[in-house]
Amino acid sequence: MRIAVGGIHTECSTYSPVLMQDADFRVLRGEGLTGHEYFAFLKNHTAEVAPLLHARAVPGGPVARDTYDRFKAEFLERLEAAKPFDAVYLAMHGAMKVDGMFDAEGDWISAVRAAVGPDMLIATSYDLHGNVSQRIIDQIDIFAAYRTAPHIDTPETMEAAYAMLLRAVETGARPGVVRVPVPLLLPGERSSTEDEPGRSLYAALPSREGPSVWRTDLMIGYVWADEPRATACAVVTGTDLAATKAAGTAIAADFWAARDRFRFGPVTGPLPEMLALAEKATTRPVILADSGDNPTGGGVGDRADVLAALIARDWQDALIAGITDRPAVEACFAAGQGARLTLKIGASLDPAGVSANAQVEVIRLDEGTTPAEWQAVVRTRGITLVLAARRRPYHDLADFTKLGLDPKAARLVVVKSGYLSPDLAPIANPNLMALTDGVVNQDIPKLANLHRAAGTVPWAESPGFAPDPQPSVRFRA
Ligand SMILES: [Zn+2]
Repeated sequence: MRIAVGGIHTECSTYSPVLMQDADFRVLRGEGLTGHEYFAFLKNHTAEVAPLLHARAVPGGPVARDTYDRFKAEFLERLEAAKPFDAVYLAMHGAMKVDGMFDAEGDWISAVRAAVGPDMLIATSYDLHGNVSQRIIDQIDIFAAYRTAPHIDTPETMEAAYAMLLRAVETGARPGVVRVPVPLLLPGERSSTEDEPGRSLYAALPSREGPSVWRTDLMIGYVWADEPRATACAVVTGTDLAATKAAGTAIAADFWAARDRFRFGPVTGPLPEMLALAEKATTRPVILADSGDNPTGGGVGDRADVLAALIARDWQDALIAGITDRPAVEACFAAGQGARLTLKIGASLDPAGVSANAQVEVIRLDEGTTPAEWQAVVRTRGITLVLAARRRPYHDLADFTKLGLDPKAARLVVVKSGYLSPDLAPIANPNLMALTDGVVNQDIPKLANLHRAAGTVPWAESPGFAPDPQPSVRFRA
């Protein structure tokens, strides 16, 4: 048995003006794919792998059209060259926006289907923040999505999709997929599976599975995508149409019934309110999430709103990690460690953002392997600040320790994040989330809504809802 493996994986705020380019993607090709830790699960199975291309980027703005076209053309070339194979596995995110195109995954997966013909099985794995269109469902046979947010089940999900594919090829079973849209979009920050009702809804998914229902998933969808396909939905893979539809209907109905119970996990509010709370805190570290500019949610990551607010308050003992500003980083490298200089920090990528001027001392320079990976640690009065040349999160403890920084020791740590990562959440004492501005801000009802389906909550009043299961046209009942 021989399986073709590849895909494209990113999440794009359609409100960001900063287009993703080739260099924003980590591209795995051929042996580089099969040998990569991300695809380590492939080694648990005896099937031969035909590795194609897998492109993955930190979430951000829309993908430039020529970048997308290049990746797609190379993927299809490799797919053609890898023939013959028995099935295709695609590792996707599901919320990619390509500049000037709606439903980019629909475009990619349809091209794969056209290349392999109608008889071949295609399995996909997704992030639960993907937006799944019926066009996608109509091209695939097997689907699995994360069941945790923060995402701690990525390898398990990828392997679940892959194992179903192997099972189908081995046994000759012909599974199919059913989608049940739910006219609702929630931000990830209000639908963490660490908190109710998400925790119980996701914990209940396996109980809907059985001999003819292979996999049950609940897609929260991606709220910062103003696209016709943007919606929550249940997606179920099974071999019996009636049972698969019934499982999807039940999942969709349970989600809809719980819609008014979704809340932010941490104490959340406007930035001045959160800073007032942080000022009164007697424990440390207070970890403040700058939610509107979270790069892992698609934010630009270059805004200095919180820095400016802390400077205005003459805040003592804060660690901000980090702000993306390549010109500022280059100025620090040019000045050298120990130098003092005046910097404009912020709004280097999105001129509509907020910047701050500060006199800084360069504490540490970190070169990485390319200038795009340069980082500078600077100090301005009571604030230690990490500047990064590229868009990136600081969500792992290792991101701090590599720079000689100890987030546990700081009075206030500011990260560009929504819900905190599994590394940071346990040390937050307490965790606060600021409703800051940015291209992934939490003021969802005010987001421009030109393209989403009419009747989607919260842009529409909560209507009545009757689940309408939509099987893939490929589902053989
Ligand atoms: Zn996600």
